[in-house]
Amino acid sequence: MTALDRVRSRAAELMGAHLADRSWAFAFDNAKTRAGQCDFARRRITVSRHLAVRFTPEDVEQVLLHEIAHALSGPRAGHGPTWRRTAAALGYTGSRLHDGPIASELAPWVGHCPAGHEHFRYRTPTRPLACARCSRRFDERNVIAWVRRPHSETAASTPAVADRVGGAPLTR
Ligand SMILES: [Zn+2]
Ligand SMILES: [Zn+2]
Repeated sequence: MTALDRVRSRAAELMGAHLADRSWAFAFDNAKTRAGQCDFARRRITVSRHLAVRFTPEDVEQVLLHEIAHALSGPRAGHGPTWRRTAAALGYTGSRLHDGPIASELAPWVGHCPAGHEHFRYRTPTRPLACARCSRRFDERNVIAWVRRPHSETAASTPAVADRVGGAPLTR
């Protein structure tokens, strides 16, 4: 069984257990900047094939529970209290994913210094930041240029929830 097969079969088990009306489908997508997505219009939960192969089984479980909680709580819930309660009841903790390398891959803001070092932020950068890998002191020659990733809206603003995975700290 390949890693993707394992993700697919775990998705079938969890979706069968929690989305009992069976009207939701599972698929892989090609996203590189988010782990999972809950597409309400197509009633489809997708997981990035690129990230899925690097996830531990526990991470896979968390991503799936995160998306299933979206499917159960609806597009307007976003990552608000209803979604959080639903997710917690399913066994979603999210905490693990905040600290690991996956979390940084899923941060909505990605920046590069002139030397090409990559940086991640969860909040909108409001003041100039210089690359600490190029120089330990602020040096405007190393200022980071930030780009907001396209798939980082919250559910409130889009019918498909593009996920960075995680709980409250990632929702704004
Ligand atoms: Zn740098
Ligand atoms: Zn989400």
